[in-house]
Amino acid sequence: MIIIKQAARLQEYLQQQAARGLVSGFVPTMGALHQGHLSLIAESRKHAGITVCSIFVNPTQFNDAKDFEKYPKTLEQDILLLEKGGTDILFLPSVDEMYPDGLTNLEHYELGYLETILEGKFRPGHFQGVCQVMYRLLTLVKPDLLFMGQKDYQQCMVVKRLLQLMGSKTKLIPSRTVRESSGLAMSSRNMRLSADQRGEAVEISTVLHFIKENLQNTPLPALKAAAVEKLQQAGFKVDYVETANADTLELVEEWDGKTPLVALIAAFLGDIRLIDNMILTG
Ligand code: AMP
Repeated sequence: MIIIKQAARLQEYLQQQAARGLVSGFVPTMGALHQGHLSLIAESRKHAGITVCSIFVNPTQFNDAKDFEKYPKTLEQDILLLEKGGTDILFLPSVDEMYPDGLTNLEHYELGYLETILEGKFRPGHFQGVCQVMYRLLTLVKPDLLFMGQKDYQQCMVVKRLLQLMGSKTKLIPSRTVRESSGLAMSSRNMRLSADQRGEAVEISTVLHFIKENLQNTPLPALKAAAVEKLQQAGFKVDYVETANADTLELVEEWDGKTPLVALIAAFLGDIRLIDNMILTG
């Protein structure tokens, strides 16, 4: 695996590789890697001849300064995991390398409805930050294929929209969420959970299953209210439990029995915010 820290060097190297005619796959991350990230690397290796991964904790997508400060960092272990996973190139830029003109007066992206709901509503500015860093990364890497996790369901949709806005030829391939055997969705933020909190955190996926299992026999508002109560009883402070059209993310209060549905949850255990989702239909 080659580690590149400079954007210009990355571009130069990838141009040489492109001349070889290889399909390129890209996996952007913020590090503190786990099996979820590695599943994306494995997916890229299946479809692409060259796999690029980036590790960059992007300051502009954190709406909470403490969350940014406390974001886990395990770089040495990340490098070992990526090498073992068969990554070809690791891009490891500094903030200056990613934002050469500084962190103010950054581009604004027209995300429309997508930015007004769920994560967009509860984390103002978050998706602008995601787009700012992804625009720069996609412009540098110009991958044929982009691998991202359905764990961040709304983020996949936002990045799809960004690719449209950019007129990019890159194809986004969403990958299924990797979970612990307990059902807990793997997440870098799980590293901050205490042993007790880890046990409590499982309730999110339990509640998602509960919603799925009762979809046919209980109206959505009652299901969501019961889900919130279960999460609160397990010690969570709930941001949202929502059901939405799985294709458009329009929130759904009354299900017609046909619309593809996804349930999405965001909730805090202490100061650690966890998100998860589950497709309910099909
Ligand atoms: P992050 O480092 O949290 O920014 O995540 C980098 C990529 O890994 C994103 O596309 C995430 O959606 C994806 N990812 C994070 N957790 C998981 C998981 N448990 N299963 C699959 N993909 C994941």
